[in-house]
Amino acid sequence: MKLATFTHESTRIGAVVGDQIVDLAAADADLPTDMIGLLEAGPAGLEAVHAALEEGPRIPLADVRLEATLLRPPKFLAVGLNYADHVAESGAETPAHPTIFNKQSTCVTGPYDDIHLPRASHVLDYEGEFGFVIGRRCRHVSRDDAAEVIAGYLIVDDVSVRDWQLRVPTWTMGKSFDTHGPIGPWLTTADEIPDPHQLGLRTFVNGELRQESNTKELIFDCFTLVEHLSTAFTLEPGDVIATGTPGGVGIGMKPPKLLVAGDVVRIEIDGLGAIENTVIPEPQFTGGIR
Ligand code: ZN
Repeated sequence: MKLATFTHESTRIGAVVGDQIVDLAAADADLPTDMIGLLEAGPAGLEAVHAALEEGPRIPLADVRLEATLLRPPKFLAVGLNYADHVAESGAETPAHPTIFNKQSTCVTGPYDDIHLPRASHVLDYEGEFGFVIGRRCRHVSRDDAAEVIAGYLIVDDVSVRDWQLRVPTWTMGKSFDTHGPIGPWLTTADEIPDPHQLGLRTFVNGELRQESNTKELIFDCFTLVEHLSTAFTLEPGDVIATGTPGGVGIGMKPPKLLVAGDVVRIEIDGLGAIENTVIPEPQFTGGIR
């Protein structure tokens, strides 16, 4: 299934079928209306969605606004330096351990929403990434059991403010500016992806192919990452983990090709669809106390 968060008069969850979306709340009033609630309902929740797919009212996809699949993930983690060609272009050494960092969950935005070129920096870059979403609360999960806790997969743009990322020892601020976490376009459930480590990934800027790789090139794959992360802390339904970007980021080019206002970043992953975000100057109204 392809589970989406959408707005059509109100914001709720649906299941994408072709060019339509099944309105799950209208189909079954007992179903949760938000994605984390649905994931927390576990297999019973997904079965109820299956049942609702048949008779549920459908809305043309063109008439709804697709929102971030998880509006506010409990955790939004990412992995640095997880493709050999990106390690090389970064001038780094192949890491012995996964390089885990946080993106603040407030940076999450929708699959077609605008990305802000910040007032504080113009050193803006894209990172097309394969992401997975946790479906079950878990701790100390072995690599062999890891597939059981993954609800599904989606696309992430790990938008990065390079000067803020690299001028201090931790990447937290440079990776977490508002709007710098587009995710979506929807959650493709794990049962639809027979092998998550055989998926082509492509990033385009204004139609120009910048990144082309495959998840088989991941240094630390999804299952290894689940084992690694859950060694330290509990993973919860709705946690999003971006697995890292392949070579071809703007800062790695000679000369660098950074994002400017008006640029359109499109990321496609086999079987997961595509997200597409336009860079705009950070609007004035985002400041102040609200
Ligand atoms: Zn990244």
